[in-house]
Order: sequence, then structure tokens, then C-alpha cells
Amino acid sequence: MASSQAAYGEGKYLCAKDGVQFPAPRSEAQLQQRQWAPLCPLCGGSLQLLDTDEARVNPHNSYAMSKYGGEQIALVLGRRYGIASTAMRYSIVQGTRQSFRNAYSGALRIFAMQVLSGQQPTAYEDGEQVRDFVNVDDVARANLLVLEDARADYCAFNVGGGRRVTVNEFARVMAAGAGRPDLEPHSTGEYRFGDTRHISSDVGALRALGWQPLGDIQRSVGAYLEWAQQQPDFGDFASKARSYMQQVGAVRGGAQ
Ligand SMILES: [Zn+2]
Repeated sequence: MASSQAAYGEGKYLCAKDGVQFPAPRSEAQLQQRQWAPLCPLCGGSLQLLDTDEARVNPHNSYAMSKYGGEQIALVLGRRYGIASTAMRYSIVQGTRQSFRNAYSGALRIFAMQVLSGQQPTAYEDGEQVRDFVNVDDVARANLLVLEDARADYCAFNVGGGRRVTVNEFARVMAAGAGRPDLEPHSTGEYRFGDTRHISSDVGALRALGWQPLGDIQRSVGAYLEWAQQQPDFGDFASKARSYMQQVGAVRGGAQ
């Protein structure tokens, strides 16, 4: 079974004074003031991002809760009835055949659409959010590994890219890949309601079984651009999706 690491809340941080923290979602007031960084829940001070391991689960939206419920069904009932089960917490999976008609999320497809239609890639917040992108081939190898290795039975694993990448860095790789390095990422201060500031997963448990991420973002972006340009109806579905999200309040903030 699968679930998304991206859904597991604000993740793990270190406060110099108070130690390891799992901050609550950022408040609407904080986001309106463009204070993007999560703050220490105890002292209100700044926090250092840590890679989040599998031990602590912190779902705070219906999507994340449903994923976690699925994991519990698979792992707890799997153990009870002797059905070997493993939960895979995929980070942001990147690769070809990701539908461009669903342009409500997904930096890979949205930035590809923007850059190929000559627009600057637009990032939410300030574009300095860390994301954990993992190549689909690495995900496939991880799935095969846990199917065949009994050490994975009844465990949950993060499946991430093993490297922190900011949204702005990802946008620059896309622009360069499309031969348009002049299209610099651009931010208007808009934010997605309920979004997570940083996502960075610790993939040590899966590495201990012999897996490691081999695909980097250049490879994911190159493969997607090549694939997308072969699709007869590929076009800018992102602009319309963004307007709709603004209209219903899923995307908020912006020019002041
Ligand atoms: Zn603190």
C-alpha cells in the first residue's frame, strides 16, 4: 500500500533551546503576514529543519488521516491475520505520464506547462520551501525490494529522494531543461491553505535494506519534458487551475 509523506504535517524540527519539536500547522494570521517559517511551539523562536523519520506521524488534514488509517489497517490487521504487509510513505514522486490535465498540484507538471508556454514558473510563498522529490524509478525499486525482503514485513518506510531541494531550485532546473534559463521563478506571496512549509524525509530505514535513490531531479525533469512534448494535447492547463483555486480560496494571499 502507499501513502504520501507530504501529508504528514509540519515534520520534525530542532529548537536550540527546547530540543526536537513537531510544530502545529502555521496559522492563517502567520501566513497573511508572510511569516513562512514554522516557529517553536514552546518559545516562539526559530527552528532548524530535520529530516523526518517514520517514528512520529502527525496527520492534520483529512487526506493524511485517511492515509494513516489505511496504514493501520494494513499493518495491524496484517499482523493479526499473518498477511505480510508494508506501508510505503512516498515523498513527491516525479516521472513521466503524470497527468497534465490535473494541474491543481505538482511542481513537475505545472512548471513544465509554464516554461513550455514561455511563462515564468510561479512558486507559492517565497519559493524557498524545501521539497523531497523522488524519481518514479526509485519508487518502483523500493516497492520491489519490500515485496521480496521479509525484513520489511509489518513496517512503514519513507521513500524519498535523499536530498533537499527548494521549489525555486526545482523551477530553475525545469527552465534550464527546457532551454529557457531566462525564465526565473517568481513568487507573489500567495500560499496554499493548509500547505506544509518544508518536506524532507529520512530514508535511512529503507537504505538499511540496501535501497538508495539513484534518480535526481535533472533526470525526472528531462524525462518529463521529453514525454510531455510528445503528447498531442499538452498545453497550459495550469493557469485555469490556479484561477479556480484562487476563486474557491484554496490559494490565498498575493499582491498587497
Ligand atoms: Zn523553543
